[in-house]
Amino acid sequence: MTEGKIWLNGSLVDYDNAKIHILTHALHYATGVFEGIRCYKTVNGNSAMFRLQDHMQRLLDSGRIYFMDLGYTRQQLEKAAIDTVKANRMEECYIRPIAYYGYGKMGVNPMPNKVSVAIAVWKWDEYLKGGEGGGGGSDGKGARLMVSSWTRIDPKSLPMGAKATANYANSALARVEAIKAGFDEAVMLNSAGMVVEASAENIFIVKDGALATPPTTSGALAGITRDSIMAIAKENGIECKVRDISRDELYTASEVFLTGTAAEVKPVGEIDNRMIGDGRAGKMTKQLKSLFEAAVHGKDKKFSKAWLTPVN
Ligand code: PMP
Repeated sequence: MTEGKIWLNGSLVDYDNAKIHILTHALHYATGVFEGIRCYKTVNGNSAMFRLQDHMQRLLDSGRIYFMDLGYTRQQLEKAAIDTVKANRMEECYIRPIAYYGYGKMGVNPMPNKVSVAIAVWKWDEYLKGGEGGGGGSDGKGARLMVSSWTRIDPKSLPMGAKATANYANSALARVEAIKAGFDEAVMLNSAGMVVEASAENIFIVKDGALATPPTTSGALAGITRDSIMAIAKENGIECKVRDISRDELYTASEVFLTGTAAEVKPVGEIDNRMIGDGRAGKMTKQLKSLFEAAVHGKDKKFSKAWLTPVN
């Protein structure tokens, strides 16, 4: 995105004017919380935001955990996101709300600073694919993952239920390590050696025909795509176990996929140079991916109504 409008503290401002001061607290001390939402063109020709209420509630909850009063209700934030998409005349886009401690008083304590809230939108077609290390894209092959040498942040060190900017220094180290080693993405273990999530996606495996994903107590974010996949699986008679997953099980799973707002449902083809299945999306991954795509595009009677907020 290089032009258009950005919502900043209640007004839509020009892209070039959405600036912050160099002494912004969040820039120095990572005191920000944010969201990622997608807007899809639906089957009736209109655009709709996927699980907008859930994303804005998570933003408010993340703020609450960090003593950050955003100064807007969930409904006001939802309207602001819709206004931003409309102002940018986008049919399909990614929406990034962020709340952060601004410029005021330096020092680790953020409290003397004002909280600012902004919402930007941009086109983000495929987040995980060739180009950042190859694979995982339109060639049909799944993403190539490596188990990171970086341990995922312990929930005793940071509240991992908050989608906070601070969490992403750990994610970025893992992702850069993976890309430099020629992989697409990193999968992270916790201090007990159990699987948590990828740098910015949740992870699912299919093992002995059963679907499983790590619990949020592992340090994984309570992903909204993860929750959607679990609801879709349940509705279609597929049981999903929320349980600890070991590194060995990643290598011996018959299918592995990642979920996230930006990445959507992304099949995994290899982990640490061990092929998963035949290296392409497995049967259950394909089924859940297509059911998810139907839901986001308004083609699913059961979920689309509850999960989609029309833009117009
Ligand atoms: N884990 C992390 C660390 C993430 O950054 C994301 C992206 N928000 C996810 C999981 C997936 O969450 P969601 O499905 O809500 O986008």
